[in-house]
Amino acid sequence: MTTETFEFQVEARQLLQLMIHSVYSNKDVFLRELVSNASDALDKLRLEKLRDDSLDADVSDLHIEIDVDKEARTLTVRDNGIGMSYDEVGQLIGTIAKSGTATLLKELKEAQDAAGAEGLIGQFGVGFYSAFMVADEVTLVTRRAGESQGTRWSSRGEATYTLETVDDAPQGTSVTLHLKPADPENQLHDYTSPWTIREIVKRYSDFITWPIRMVPEAAEGDSAPEPETLNSMKALWARSREEVSDDEYHELYKHISHDWREPLETIRLQAEGTFEYQALLFVPSHAPHDLFTRDFRRGVQLYVKRVFIMDDCEALLPPYLRFVKGVVDAQDLSLNVSREILQQDRHIRMMQRRLTKKVLSTVKEFMTKDADRYTTFWREFGTVLKEGLVTDSENRDAILAVASFATTRSDDEPTTLARYVERMKDGQEDIYYLTGESRQSIENSPHMEAFRAKGIEVLLLTDAVDEVWVDAVGEYEGRKLRSVAKGEIDLDAKGEEKADEEREKQAEEFAGLLGWMRERLDEDIKEVRLSTRLTVSPACVVSDAHDLTPALENMYRAMGQ
Ligand code: ADP
Ligand code: MG
Repeated sequence: MTTETFEFQVEARQLLQLMIHSVYSNKDVFLRELVSNASDALDKLRLEKLRDDSLDADVSDLHIEIDVDKEARTLTVRDNGIGMSYDEVGQLIGTIAKSGTATLLKELKEAQDAAGAEGLIGQFGVGFYSAFMVADEVTLVTRRAGESQGTRWSSRGEATYTLETVDDAPQGTSVTLHLKPADPENQLHDYTSPWTIREIVKRYSDFITWPIRMVPEAAEGDSAPEPETLNSMKALWARSREEVSDDEYHELYKHISHDWREPLETIRLQAEGTFEYQALLFVPSHAPHDLFTRDFRRGVQLYVKRVFIMDDCEALLPPYLRFVKGVVDAQDLSLNVSREILQQDRHIRMMQRRLTKKVLSTVKEFMTKDADRYTTFWREFGTVLKEGLVTDSENRDAILAVASFATTRSDDEPTTLARYVERMKDGQEDIYYLTGESRQSIENSPHMEAFRAKGIEVLLLTDAVDEVWVDAVGEYEGRKLRSVAKGEIDLDAKGEEKADEEREKQAEEFAGLLGWMRERLDEDIKEVRLSTRLTVSPACVVSDAHDLTPALENMYRAMGQ
């Protein structure tokens, strides 16, 4: 048997250092993380066995076990789940693949104080590594279901870890923590005390659907005591609202999302009748760093009659709600249901419509009842929600109703379209907007001059998706959405109509200049015309009403089109 020594990836090493010097004040959460991993491993094994009956694995008594040894000061969390192969251990435990880790570490370096660092770690959640908050050495023994050889991983959390193969490893994974010396000041956090363990499991992991067992230490001369199951295993989504505390919901959210922060909102939904299901959805309080990357994983899990079927179930919610996390448990689906079947299933489509409406009505409720929550929501998820304006015509009005936009009227308070319309000037027919890279670049645009001079409000749209949805949507309650940079805009059309006579005179006066410009710029432009839209700048470039705007041109170019 040979032992190989490996170095942690740089990011992993930095995070481990933080764990060892534990800036995180609530160290109890290490157990939640280990139990959460064990539970995932059991879900995965049950599913793999369901898909492939020939898999050589025992699924008759899937469970999690916690053992404490006061003498040796060790704590072990064991599961008989899917396990890991030799290579997987190195990949999964030796590196941190989470996107955004580099950003986190940069911010951590800049955070001067422990409180700042703690906040940042809470944002990411560090999973398995949190074991090093309470342990000075961690050993993991694992065997992948179906394989005969096991692997032992061991580390003191410093620069390196070791890997070796083992011949007699049981199926699944056991993680043994060699606990740091006891803190005499703090009896509550003695992790060798069964009482402490029981409390922590109850608080953080009660809803885990697998039994979490603890074997009490045998008293002198007694026969081996019966293991005790610490959790109630009740699926939270199947219990009535009154029975479940907010904290319990939040712990489920953390288990599913791998986010350590509280969610912004918990949404419950029960459907009875021909197609029965229960849903428990969570709106996070922060957008994840990888929300706009191609391989972003969605967070809705599908269960069938309490059995976990899949993570990341894309059939349950439309792409623009991909930030929503949660569980949907359906009664009448086959355990063997595949993603392809789900995409075509009529009941699933109805479920998707209902869940979508429920999420949108929740946002509407934030808006009418809780301005702070609405502001947070829109800041974090407004950009992604606007994708729905393009892709979900059925809910377009519902999305428009909860959307808000930066406006020339206020530096920091966005406006809804309804408010904009209320404030429109007498004679103003259309809703004006301008798209651009940033608020500042838009405000400096010469297109804005006449609007500013006349005190007409303009929406300032800076997200790439804005270019697309304004075209797709076109109007709001009969009011056209008009770019101030496109086509002819005659702000004098109503009210103070300029005398045609005066215009003609001006046209004559400038005919020479316009002709000359037309000649010089022939290659680059379609037309030169006099405009009433400028007050300070001598000239500006305008595109045709149907042309691509510059930002959209850039976007398409970037996409290689
Ligand atoms: P996360 O759970 O967010 O993926 P962790 O740091 O908690 O991050 O775990 C990293 C990975 O290690 C997991 O995704 C999983 O693949 C693997 N892993 C951890 N614990 C176990 C376990 N008990 N059984 C099988 N795989 C595990
Ligand atoms: Mg984890």
